[in-house]
Amino acid sequence: MKNIPDLFGSMVFNEEVMRRRLPQEVFESLSRTIEEGKEIDPAIADTVANAMKEWAIEKGATHYTHWFQPLNDITAEKHEAFIDPVPGGKVVMEFSGKELIKGEPDASSFPSGGLRATFEARGYTAWDPASYAFVKDGTLYIPTAFCSYTGEALDTKTPLLRSLDALSREGVRLMRLLGDKEVKRITTTIGIEQEYFLVDKELYDSRKDLIFAGCTLFGAPAPKGQELEDHYFGPIATRVGEFMAELDTELWKLGIPAKTKHNETAPAQHELAPIYTTANRSIDQNLLIMSYMKRIAERHGLVCLLHEKPYAGVNGSGKHNNWSIGTDTGKNLLKPGKTPAENKLFLLMLAAVLRAVDDYQDLLRLSVAHAGNDRRLGGLEAPPAVISVFTGEDLEEVIDAIINEKTYQGCAASKMNFGIPSVPVFTKDTTDRNRTSPFAFTGNKFEFRMVGSSQNVSFPNVVLNTAVADVFADFSDRLEKAEDFDATLKAIIKETFAAHRRIVFNGNGYAADWEKEAKRRGLSNLKNSVEAYRTFTAEKNIALFERQGVMSRTEILSRQEILFEHYAKIVHIEAGTMIEMASRDILPAVFSYEKDLARNIESIKNVLDDGDTMPEEEILRSLTTETGKAYRALEELKAATDAALAEKDVCEQAAAFAEKVLPLMSKLRASVDKMETMTASYAWPLATYGDLLFRL
Ligand code: ADP
Ligand code: MG
Repeated sequence: MKNIPDLFGSMVFNEEVMRRRLPQEVFESLSRTIEEGKEIDPAIADTVANAMKEWAIEKGATHYTHWFQPLNDITAEKHEAFIDPVPGGKVVMEFSGKELIKGEPDASSFPSGGLRATFEARGYTAWDPASYAFVKDGTLYIPTAFCSYTGEALDTKTPLLRSLDALSREGVRLMRLLGDKEVKRITTTIGIEQEYFLVDKELYDSRKDLIFAGCTLFGAPAPKGQELEDHYFGPIATRVGEFMAELDTELWKLGIPAKTKHNETAPAQHELAPIYTTANRSIDQNLLIMSYMKRIAERHGLVCLLHEKPYAGVNGSGKHNNWSIGTDTGKNLLKPGKTPAENKLFLLMLAAVLRAVDDYQDLLRLSVAHAGNDRRLGGLEAPPAVISVFTGEDLEEVIDAIINEKTYQGCAASKMNFGIPSVPVFTKDTTDRNRTSPFAFTGNKFEFRMVGSSQNVSFPNVVLNTAVADVFADFSDRLEKAEDFDATLKAIIKETFAAHRRIVFNGNGYAADWEKEAKRRGLSNLKNSVEAYRTFTAEKNIALFERQGVMSRTEILSRQEILFEHYAKIVHIEAGTMIEMASRDILPAVFSYEKDLARNIESIKNVLDDGDTMPEEEILRSLTTETGKAYRALEELKAATDAALAEKDVCEQAAAFAEKVLPLMSKLRASVDKMETMTASYAWPLATYGDLLFRL
């Protein structure tokens, strides 16, 4: 393999390439846009475009594309060749500043919610200079934002960039009040841990549910699951290791700092974590990671499943969104330092995050609501649907001391001693790890763990950034009017901790009594996506987004409609897949096994007058009883699906799928899974959980 430092970022038009290839004043102007979020100077566009094109052609590119993130969970691209005809029947390779800055894809085929009816179908993509362009598959990829002709966001990136701006604006304002004269921009950095499953391609191809729905919709548990916990951090299988190595190399070429890889808890489950970077770049990188996982898996005879719950009964996959706020001067505002109890800046930040999370629990829950994630949240190893914040016991004591105006005693950092002379003694972290909290403080960042593995993490970050920006604004309003600044600052911290103490929970989030306790505390518990989507248009939520200039009422309404629609479509596909599999594959297979049994009974009786056919008869009886149940469940499911489809209102339709169709899907599954355990292996038409999870 090539020298990794040379390979790393070799396909990216990054800062180093820009510095080498652009005239100095153009480079400086572009850097100001990238680092300080300053408006781009249109005069430099032609020069940048030309340099990008020359560089991309050297890397083998013949085309360019505006790469964007419409609201349907994928990324979109339309490739344009650089060619431009010249007299004499020849072409030259051209790429203008205008083409770099603006694209005009037909917006009418992308989800736009109510916007489609009220606005023109035309949409624009606009270059996002803060995320680097790169070359892959002979094409120059230019990250872009996507808006309608009238400026409504039609993508996930636009609100993200607006929320980052809001947080920076309000963050800088607050920092200035606190006496920081240097800071010009506040940034959020995120590190996204990505979980995924791998499955053998041939086995995958034999399962319609994996093909159409991305997850299994039937399947009795295998005799072995994850109970031995022997997969977590276990040795990596050869084929999987080869896949991971190739994935790393491809990602490194794209400047993605893939760092950590390991086996996860469930059999055939794995994780990849890159090193964190600015939110905008990190999200674009995560989208590339997901697409490379899929394509590289295929080269190894595997399929990568990014679904949140590919298999019932074992862990699902999530995406941990590690989030922190920093300044352009290199300060991490969530760093507690040695003495957090005396660190006013940190305490103010902690207070702001607690208040933001408490006030907008519903929006955070909504930001991870997804038909796939519904199968995971509250399940094995996944955070429950209740939002709370883990601070660790030390910080909890600090918070309580401040609320009760007591002095914080503090617990001295203790030494870790293995009791082996040759092993070094080191200072322990003051907080233990917590794995059950949906939103955990982990040293110098918060880790939002409810995000689903298939999701674009933009919206969860939009909610976080916007809610925190709004709290910052409120703090600043108070501090600006303060007569006694220090006393006001102290009061803000104390009052905020007191008002939002209920969101802090350091116990076991998976315990059954936590749900009861959460209810007593008045925390919201939105059980499924449809319930969560409804809260989008609560007046307080619309007001938040409008106040911070992140989304308009119209944009929110259209997004809500898209969410309902998308949810209904997913469950409809799942129900349709189950109906197809049950009617055409499973029931016919069971019928022929029943026939085998019946014939067996007959043949035995023909040969032996006193032949004992009790076992065959018992099995046949149980199987036919269960077949009857499955058939009735199937008919009910068909009727409920038709009834849901007949609902005109998108919200009612989604609700019908969630409340009427899903329970019948479970009912059908329960019967089919039972039949699987009674049917001979030779007769069962589907690859089993044992095959899917253990044959890698
Ligand atoms: P875990 O124990 O949950 O696996 P790690 O320590 O491996 O966590 O880190 C998880 C992710 O958090 C990595 O992507 C890492 O780069 C990222 N991370 C670390 N510090 C920060 C920070 N200040 N802001 C954002 N992400 C961070
Ligand atoms: Mg983590």
